[in-house]
Amino acid sequence: MKLYPLFADLSGRAVLVVGGGVVGERKAAGLLESGAQVTVGAPEITPELRRWAESGRIRWFAGAFHDSWLDEPWLVIAATGDAALHAHIAEQAARRRIFVNVVDDAERSSFHVPAVVDRAPVTIAISSGGHAPMLARLLRERMELLIDPVVGPLASLLAQLRSRIRMRLPDLARRRRFYERLLGSPVQSLLRRGQWALAEAAAERLLDATEPLGAGSVVLLGAGPGDPGLLSLRGLRALNEADVILHDRLVSAEVLALARRDAERIEVAKQAGNHQTTQAQIHALMLQHASAGRRVVRLKGGDPFVFGRGGEELEFLRAHGIAYEVVPGITAALACAAYAGVPLTHRDHAQSVRLVTAHCQASIDTLDWPALAQERQTLAVYMGTSELPVIQQQLLAHGRAASTPFALVENGSRLEQRVITGSLDQLVEHARRYELRPPALLIIGEVAALAETLAWYGRPPEGGVGRRSPLPEALTA
Ligand code: SAH
Repeated sequence: MKLYPLFADLSGRAVLVVGGGVVGERKAAGLLESGAQVTVGAPEITPELRRWAESGRIRWFAGAFHDSWLDEPWLVIAATGDAALHAHIAEQAARRRIFVNVVDDAERSSFHVPAVVDRAPVTIAISSGGHAPMLARLLRERMELLIDPVVGPLASLLAQLRSRIRMRLPDLARRRRFYERLLGSPVQSLLRRGQWALAEAAAERLLDATEPLGAGSVVLLGAGPGDPGLLSLRGLRALNEADVILHDRLVSAEVLALARRDAERIEVAKQAGNHQTTQAQIHALMLQHASAGRRVVRLKGGDPFVFGRGGEELEFLRAHGIAYEVVPGITAALACAAYAGVPLTHRDHAQSVRLVTAHCQASIDTLDWPALAQERQTLAVYMGTSELPVIQQQLLAHGRAASTPFALVENGSRLEQRVITGSLDQLVEHARRYELRPPALLIIGEVAALAETLAWYGRPPEGGVGRRSPLPEALTA
């Protein structure tokens, strides 16, 4: 037997929940959201239900179930945990032709409550017909990830435009084409940004256009440090909608694998020292593809606004009138710290964090060393692996203690992650002894010592401040 799916309009209609425990409370809360007039019947109710009863949000029949409770409601939910009572309620409800749901008892229920993906006014309801409620719940979780939250506002916008759409596109096939174009259009990204009036205007333009608008766009997307699980949901959606992906070399293969299959992938590797020309080429590629109406994802390692030249790319896009969005990613400092067990701030050890880059002699010379050498702060140094001698020497020269702990995190959050620890005076020596390779992030500060006790990911840290005996040479050779 197959269930007939239906969505019920309960606003202003009486609904009875029998049972005042946590399940009853959850059912009452859901019913209240759809505007039902909820009565809870039970000898005892939860403190929250009691508050709702006192404030008049619900009515409370205090006491044992009585058949007369069924005189009013359109629907009944039985959630008492008492099987005999449930059987009685189901029978009495059937006699009165009232639909009843008995919690966790599909056989006694004449209606089921589905697992729901809520994108109001759009609702997606999933039922296993009572056969496998857990499966329905898992499917719901999958759908939560897949269905963009913008679907809700989009449906509201369409409701507002409904009569105009029907008037201008009386032909069903043309109307359908309009909806299809709408789904891939800038209207969605405008709604995502909360720009309702602009979204409405864009939808109006789309309504008048017989051909696709041809407006491409660029999503500047942070791919995170490597572990694909660290990509944001919005990032995942952007990858699924992309026509072209321009990605850096640092972006992991696992993240790229999440993108739409037929998206064109272009690696725009940037060689150190050769930035100028390639950056211009990246700009040109973004412009070329977006102008051709494609949805471009500019995918960068970590976060696009942390040592990622994201600002320059946006300025360029803005100057050329290309629409853009920015989706942040988890920057190397946050990811490496998390995956090495190093809290960047700590009430006992560090009150501030500085993100610093030291990629060449010229950038190193402009750093404010006296400020960087201060105690009780954490430094997260990007692109510093080739400049370790200068960093060590300058910090020591400006008064940072030789015993200050460091942690070098190589390939943070990736399966190959390695962590090398030690004290500031050992920095260069340890990097050499343990053969540090890029990409690596350097964390300096009292908190770095915690890597040795709080490590949880990958191999245990190598090195150490010397309190422990270093690894036998045989293992490091
Ligand atoms: N926008 C990026 C940083 C780009 S600069 C972000 O927000 O993370 C490149 C530097 O980032 C590398 O030289 C290295 O210091 C650091 N880095 C990036 N990914 C890393 C990783 N997985 N492990 C360690 N360091 C990383």
